[in-house]
Amino acid sequence: MEAEANSGSLEDSWAFIQRPGEGCRTVPLAGHVGFDSLPDQLVNKSVSQGFCFNILCVGETGLGKSTLMDTLFNTKFEGEPATHTQPGVQLRSNTYDLQESNVGLKLTIVSTVGFGDQINKEDSYKPIVEFIDAQFEAYLQEELKIRRVLHAYHDSRIHACLYFIAPTGHSLKSLDLVTMKKLDSKVNIIPIIAKSDAISKSELTKFKIKITSELVSNGVQIYQFPTDDESVAEINGTMNAHLPFAVIGSTEELKIGNKMMKARQYPWGTVQVENEAHCDFVKLREMLIRVNMEDLREQTHSRHYELYRRCKLEEMGFQDTDPDSKPFSLQETYEAKRNEFLGELQKKEEEMRQMFVQRVKEKEAELKEAEKELHEKFDRLKKLHQDEKKKLEDKKKSLDDEVNAFKQRKTAAELLQSQSSQAGGSQTLKRDKEKKN
Ligand code: GDP
Repeated sequence: MEAEANSGSLEDSWAFIQRPGEGCRTVPLAGHVGFDSLPDQLVNKSVSQGFCFNILCVGETGLGKSTLMDTLFNTKFEGEPATHTQPGVQLRSNTYDLQESNVGLKLTIVSTVGFGDQINKEDSYKPIVEFIDAQFEAYLQEELKIRRVLHAYHDSRIHACLYFIAPTGHSLKSLDLVTMKKLDSKVNIIPIIAKSDAISKSELTKFKIKITSELVSNGVQIYQFPTDDESVAEINGTMNAHLPFAVIGSTEELKIGNKMMKARQYPWGTVQVENEAHCDFVKLREMLIRVNMEDLREQTHSRHYELYRRCKLEEMGFQDTDPDSKPFSLQETYEAKRNEFLGELQKKEEEMRQMFVQRVKEKEAELKEAEKELHEKFDRLKKLHQDEKKKLEDKKKSLDDEVNAFKQRKTAAELLQSQSSQAGGSQTLKRDKEKKN
């Protein structure tokens, strides 16, 4: 009875648990409360913290990457011009603190040094992909720390990739297509036609169409300026149709009319960087810095980083649900992974032990074989030695016999000789006696 009563009350209490947002009522306020200042609080906090923005410039050496950055930010960033003799592609990263009104911006410009300068360009995209991944990995490591300080962390993830296309007027180079394809799921790509003063107006229109169709047919996803926010939907929609922007860079200021303007002067005339009839530089600056900088930062976090993080965590064995579609707890995943790891470790240890035993057995057998061979060799040598000794003894015996025989013969000969000399002496006496008589 009691158990029944208990279970009943438990069910009732579950029924009262309300999900956030469910059954939410709108109530009028009798007077000013003050939370309408929240947006201002947010702005103030963000302004005092400062912002960061990271641009990656990908393009062949000499396409005007450094010049364009100087032109965009109206300053002269230091940096040596790159040579065409690099053995491979390297990424050069520089961070600058910029201040405009009361807003601080930590700007990082990463440039590809040596891109397109090698005979074999097959792996040119790899250092770029590795660099982008390394920034994601650093952020993930910071996120996974127990004591993380993300607000003070210098976020080096790439927010925008300006892809510099050479003004050939033909089509995209295969290096460009391959590189953009490898990067499109990792970074917001904004393609731009560099040094567009080198291409005529009619050629430029055709070139833009050609580039766009090649990107579409090769499935390369470039960054689209967002049209979901009403305040910027119109301008962004229009600008999407102008991609890729054809830009010109110059830090040189020339007097045009009675104004100083950024321009490039040629024997036949002047190209004005900020003149929309001459190039799309203003459109690029508007889209990249003045309208969509925050969207680029957000897309980097919510799309590209999220994808990297998901793949990385899945690779590490983490899942949101178990095979029965129940939520997977971090603890369980960790323990499962730990047990799997310990199991593998034990298996490896056992394998190594077996291998060690096997090796010891093999070595023992080898040593036994060697010992046996040594014994056999020793026996052989011993027998040889005995035979040799016996032969020498026999020879010695026969020599001793010969010596004895010789000695006997010598004694006999000496005896014979003394006998004969005695006999010879008595005959001489007899002959002397006979002569005297
Ligand atoms: P990077 O190696 O890609 O950084 O190229 P640089 O910015 O060092 O520029 C290489 C050369 O191209 C320099 O002599 C620049 O003056 C020149 N340059 C830069 N931008 C333009 C441009 O828009 N048009 C033309 N014609 N030349 C440019």
